[in-house]
Amino acid sequence: MEKFEALWAYQAEDIKADAIAQSIRRSPTRQKLEKARDYILDRQKQYKQIEEEVTAMADRKDVIAQGMQRAARQLEDLQNRFEHNPPASQEELSSLLADVSRCRDTIRQYETEIRRIVRETESNDKLQRSVRVEAANAKKTFDQLKAEYEQESKSRKAELEVQREKAKALAPEVDPALMEEYEIIKKHISPPVARLTYGQCSGCNTSLPSATLAKIKNGALVECETCGRMIIQ
Ligand SMILES: [Zn+2]
Repeated sequence: MEKFEALWAYQAEDIKADAIAQSIRRSPTRQKLEKARDYILDRQKQYKQIEEEVTAMADRKDVIAQGMQRAARQLEDLQNRFEHNPPASQEELSSLLADVSRCRDTIRQYETEIRRIVRETESNDKLQRSVRVEAANAKKTFDQLKAEYEQESKSRKAELEVQREKAKALAPEVDPALMEEYEIIKKHISPPVARLTYGQCSGCNTSLPSATLAKIKNGALVECETCGRMIIQ
């Protein structure tokens, strides 16, 4: 039974150390720090998205410029044809005028699109600037919080170190096989060892069958079927 007591004593110190580690992780400063980091990452993502849009718009602008040149050349051709080879019939005239009108429509559509792109580019520029400012401010906050957190966690980490040492000092007293089992269970549930109290597993308050109780009393290694903890007397 003594081997279980050694494990119990070890667990007491080990769990205290875990609690300190957890409180370091859950410190409000650290949470703020993580929030600030996520915010910066979001702004970086947003910035990249805008940049991609800007690139796509620049590409589209090139395509439009080429299209406009093409339409302008067509218009010029039609004009030349009108001057040097005037339409002979009403039909030919209508057809030529229809071509001219199509060309002008195309140019107008391109112009409308260019104006829209210019407007969007301007608003993207503005957005990009504000995202940059927001990210820079967030970075300042992040750096401040980081310094604060480092300061704060320094003393807490020293405390954790002391507590880990306390647990470590007790570890050699524990049977190695038992320690191994302890570590395995701890991956699933903590604390991994529970006392038997009034016929129940004190970890989950499940009543244990008498056969299990007998095993525990005989000093066998018993794990709770409900919570998986090692149950000791
Ligand atoms: Zn249990």
